[in-house]
Amino acid sequence: VWQSPLQETKSVCPYCGTGCGVLIQHDGRKILGVRGDPKHPANFGRLCTKGRTLHQTVQAPDRALQPLLRDRQGGEQVIHWDAALGLAAERFARIIREHGPQAVAFYVSGQLSTEDYYVVNKLAKGLIGSNHIDTNSRLCMASAVTGYKASLGMDSVPNCYEDIEAANCLFIIGANPAYAHPIVFRRIEDAKARNPDLKIIVADPRRTATASIADLYLPLRPGSDVALLHGMLHVLIWEELIDRDYIAAHTEGWAELKQRVQAYTPQRVSELCDLPEDLIREAALEFGRAHAALSLWCQGLNQSSHGTDKITALINLHLATGQIGRPGAGPFSLTGQPNAMGGREVGGMPNLLPGHREIINPEHRAEISRLWGVEALHPEPGLTAVPLFKAIERGEIKAVWIACTNPVVSLPDQQQVVRALQAAEFVVVQDAYHPTETAEFADLILPAASWGEREALVTNSERRISRLAQAVSAPGQARPDWEIFRDFARTLGEILDMTGHPSPQTESWSSRARRLFDYPDSESIFKEFRESTRGRDLDITGLSLAILDEQGPQQWPFHEGATGGRQRLYTDGIFPTPSGRARFLAPAYAPVAEEIDARYPLRLTTGRLRDQWHTLSRTGQVAGLFQHVAEPLLEIHPEDAKALPEGSLARISSRRGTVIARVRHARAQLPGTLFLPMHFGSRFAPQGMANALTLPALDPVSKQPEFKHAAVRVEPA
Ligand code: SF4
Repeated sequence: VWQSPLQETKSVCPYCGTGCGVLIQHDGRKILGVRGDPKHPANFGRLCTKGRTLHQTVQAPDRALQPLLRDRQGGEQVIHWDAALGLAAERFARIIREHGPQAVAFYVSGQLSTEDYYVVNKLAKGLIGSNHIDTNSRLCMASAVTGYKASLGMDSVPNCYEDIEAANCLFIIGANPAYAHPIVFRRIEDAKARNPDLKIIVADPRRTATASIADLYLPLRPGSDVALLHGMLHVLIWEELIDRDYIAAHTEGWAELKQRVQAYTPQRVSELCDLPEDLIREAALEFGRAHAALSLWCQGLNQSSHGTDKITALINLHLATGQIGRPGAGPFSLTGQPNAMGGREVGGMPNLLPGHREIINPEHRAEISRLWGVEALHPEPGLTAVPLFKAIERGEIKAVWIACTNPVVSLPDQQQVVRALQAAEFVVVQDAYHPTETAEFADLILPAASWGEREALVTNSERRISRLAQAVSAPGQARPDWEIFRDFARTLGEILDMTGHPSPQTESWSSRARRLFDYPDSESIFKEFRESTRGRDLDITGLSLAILDEQGPQQWPFHEGATGGRQRLYTDGIFPTPSGRARFLAPAYAPVAEEIDARYPLRLTTGRLRDQWHTLSRTGQVAGLFQHVAEPLLEIHPEDAKALPEGSLARISSRRGTVIARVRHARAQLPGTLFLPMHFGSRFAPQGMANALTLPALDPVSKQPEFKHAAVRVEPA
């Protein structure tokens, strides 16, 4: 039997924001294996367990293969693509006609490609006129974004991965890269092995796998990060370890901050954080004496009702010591998802427009109106994730299109999300996998192409844009997400014309939709997006797909005429604020949104496992990935588990719901603090959904929910 020779196609792992390069091994028809791309600068050939098993996720039994029409009792019927898009367009058109464009919404994902994001954002804002488009990146990086913007003037990670090797102090706070960004963690381990003088400080309520390599571990009380960071700055000032020249030349707001942190003495911070004073002092001294201090953070800071404050308090440490804009120095946010950054670049959020533009800015709206060739864009930001699902429950938003995400498992207060989807008049779920927990509430399922089955661009944690090439055809009738959005837009235009809905321009809806979505291929989308970045902070007008193919992944900005992207930002000490100076912000420490009390006396934190990803739609297809942890285990300190023997079942209750989980005694937990993994939905653990317990309290600026603290009680099940 003749067999095609094994081919290798360049791609990127579609899991975490590390953005590891992979080579897909295939015979032109089937993906057969995967190995790390030795030339990709994010991983140089390494892959973690999730990346190494990627090929097992594509020919999985739970792939969505054809459009399905569903009834709410679970009946499903195969439907032709044209009929599916026609039905969706008819339902959307009727709702738009009767209730206005703000009655429809899109909820998308940091796992979509840049091209997908660009098209769905243009569909919502440019064609329909609804700014209700948010993404699961709201659950992930929103506070990092608002923190960066508030302190440094723009949404951007100023660092690169080489800074891990260049630093001589790593301050890891609210992150567990050993599990969530394993290849970044390998790099940290290597840096430590090469340079034993590298000091690693880990601040986390759990003694995580990452904490195992810490020289200094700070087990702070959940939610008390602002107090710790202010306390460290207090010590730095007292010990004269601040950089007065840098503060004078490049910052503003120092006097207010100095006054604020005066009250955060080690003694007071010790009480607020439940930490020994010595540890606070030592952490500050290590940071302050370092030649190059790099901080790394992730959801432990972001997923908080005070996430923005935490990020700005961390950035304060860098600005006060001049630890930014130099090799090995700076505040480095580890991006959760593979393309959370790309989504923001194209404006795929309710407050944004392409090229990091703001909807509330009239000039920005005018620029995008001109680029798209549409009339004035809606000036009000749309709703963010949690308020969006509340608006669906209230009946204000009547149709929602959910792409590449599983909000029934991933949003907080899971019962509220269920009520919302039950109340919606029309729900479209577009995904590469079926069934998912969210699909149970769908009226229409649309099958999407997955990793290796389509071309795509993504941006990783260090602003590096990579190109994912197509290795094989998508199975069944699955199609790239951008194609589905494009064809829906064109069909919607035709239906709006047929039903006589007045067009906002002299041009008919259908001709407008054909013009706005004239994308024969994904490169045509990239070119339009690239033009939208001209003159902006993320300008990539010098980048082309040919450069990405020939020279490999590139960091932005990459200006026209440049020969490469920029490795680090702010090397000249000039910041994109009106004054050109970075801003010190002086938030007061505030407690968690839901304090413990007599009824709910324990603190629940949620987080990730090493070998699982999000809500298991993809990793749940790989049996081997359950070998590490097979079910949602409640990690509890033995002191809190007197009535709960190891391996017994516990009932965990909060004001919102109940979870049943098996008990694991863990001295890594602080007494009084529990941990549950966030991945398991009802398909994998019928009573084990951590987000049945979490609360929808939001950061007032970023609108990111507080997944990292809920008051609970626990008892034998
Ligand atoms: Fe994929 Fe992240 Fe693992 Fe790299 S570290 S292989 S991007 S999951």
